[in-house]
Amino acid sequence: MEIRCWRICLMAIAALLSASGAAQSTPLSERVVAYQIEGAYNAKTHTLDATEVLTYTNHTGTTLNAFPFHLYLNAFQPKSTWMTEAERIGQRDSEMGEGWDDKHYGSNEVKSLEVVGQGDVTKQMKFISPDDGNADDHTVFEVALPKPLPPGQSVQFRIHFVAKFPEVVARTGYKRDFLMAGQWFPKVGVWWNGAWNCHQFHATTEFFADFGTFDVKLTLPAKWNVGATGLQTGGKDNGNGTQTVSFHAEDVHDFAWTADPTTKVMEDSIRLSSGTVKIRMLMQPGHMASAPRYLAALKGTMQKFDEWIGAYPYPQITVVDPPHGGGAAGGMEYPTLITADTSWFMPKSLLLPELVVEHEFGHQYWYGMVATNEFENAWLDEGINSYTETKIMDALYGRNTSVLNSRLATGGERGYQRMGYVPVSNLDPLSRPAWLFENNESYSGITYGKTAVVMLTLESLIGEKAVLHGLHEYFERYKFKHPRPEDFTSAMNEATGQNLDWYWKQAIYGTQTLDDRILTASSERLDWYNKAKEKKGVTVYHSEVIVHRRGEFDLPVVLEAKFDDGSTVRANWDGKDRWHRFSWDRKEKLVSAEIDPDHGYLLDRDPFNNSWTEKADRKATGKLAGYWTLLTQWLEQALSWLA
Ligand SMILES: [Zn+2]
Repeated sequence: MEIRCWRICLMAIAALLSASGAAQSTPLSERVVAYQIEGAYNAKTHTLDATEVLTYTNHTGTTLNAFPFHLYLNAFQPKSTWMTEAERIGQRDSEMGEGWDDKHYGSNEVKSLEVVGQGDVTKQMKFISPDDGNADDHTVFEVALPKPLPPGQSVQFRIHFVAKFPEVVARTGYKRDFLMAGQWFPKVGVWWNGAWNCHQFHATTEFFADFGTFDVKLTLPAKWNVGATGLQTGGKDNGNGTQTVSFHAEDVHDFAWTADPTTKVMEDSIRLSSGTVKIRMLMQPGHMASAPRYLAALKGTMQKFDEWIGAYPYPQITVVDPPHGGGAAGGMEYPTLITADTSWFMPKSLLLPELVVEHEFGHQYWYGMVATNEFENAWLDEGINSYTETKIMDALYGRNTSVLNSRLATGGERGYQRMGYVPVSNLDPLSRPAWLFENNESYSGITYGKTAVVMLTLESLIGEKAVLHGLHEYFERYKFKHPRPEDFTSAMNEATGQNLDWYWKQAIYGTQTLDDRILTASSERLDWYNKAKEKKGVTVYHSEVIVHRRGEFDLPVVLEAKFDDGSTVRANWDGKDRWHRFSWDRKEKLVSAEIDPDHGYLLDRDPFNNSWTEKADRKATGKLAGYWTLLTQWLEQALSWLA
């Protein structure tokens, strides 16, 4: 008890210090929003009764007459767009099961809405469905202002709302006493590209919001451990079985929190170029074996991002470990807070806990700071993040062992990313808005897998260093700015000093696939009419290899030919025509040939037709294909895609 009081006193002092420090610090972002939310959580009904005061500053340069807001928790209702799509095209939560179950009901009810100084506008609120016209979808509402808001001015909304959490679905909700509160408060849309951007919540979409500050005060059952975005600035035991805790966060665009009576809090820190960053991990008691694995992966990832991409400017990162059966809360990113995923038995050979922590921390950069529009350009976040995941997991755990590392089989990130991409390779372009993909597999395979594969293939064209340098420049230029795809491509072009538009056009905006193959190969004596016996070192052979561009994607082709004296030659083709004939007249016979000899064109749908050998070694090919099938099955069972 005493220790607890001491901690609270220290926290209060820290709060005062950080509050005064915050006032002096230079904002990292254009702070459009300032949220002050105060709420009380009822752990029996899984509801939060809260008041939100949102101060919105008009940086748009234009007068604003109306404001749209997200009410994400309303997605968890039978006729919502999210639920309808989940039923029809699928979603990632295997725990949800088939059909509707009342335990997955969630809602966000606005009890009253006042524009401060202008009056109550609750009756003027109307639900809108800009994406699909579904009148039963209540995930977005709009309200007109009594007085228009000129540029440079601020407006304040006071919203009384009640959030009802579902049993965990789509990264939010409760499982027994555990609560992961994500997307829980009315959140204003983003004025972007000259218009309001406030999409409905879809089964395949994530989020988009403006930067600002958050001050959140929560009353919850006493002694529960709480974790949240930002830093804790206060906490007191109310003496009536409840406690009140407060948090402050700045230069973030969302706020999530978690509470649980049984988690174990572990604290650590890491020194980075930006200073010391505090690490807080909220672990389930049954998952302690995974704690050192999370921590090592987190520290390794933070160091690599610091080295390759840019500085982590926040004072803390919190890792939340969801309980058994609460996996739908796992594998998610919120500003300065991520959720991990493991189970009570997690073999060391399967690097799932590491992969999830790497992936979700990576989002602190692409989703958290660069903050692209996840509804319309999901690949800029999930996809770029899957590329950095591959780079970092490979660097930390080995290229061929970064996902699976057992005596029976090994597998790396490259294979894992390709596994998502290959089956859906030409169904949808990367550039498609997330909710318009053919189905859930296509959304994830293209958005995550294809983007990673596109960026890895780019390394073969311009070099690994150039790609990472380009990403670093893109991050530095666009952090806190909500860039668009064309901002990404132009930043990459400029940073690498190359006009890569020919590549982006195919890779981002097209659905063409790459499948270069060796069509035929032969090596016959040049004097074919000569009846005399062939003589080694005298007879000249005409060797040729025809390479066929079977897919519609064109990339320059490198062919490596090997001759019977052990010598090899490499030859190039621009890859634009349908096929190309490579030929040599030499005293050595051709024994094998291979396109993409460095195995860097991960975009190639079928690498098994990339090589030819004089005496086809069918055994080896069969073995490779069998191994691939085994690996694929293993991984499919072990991993579902990450948010
Ligand atoms: Zn993700």
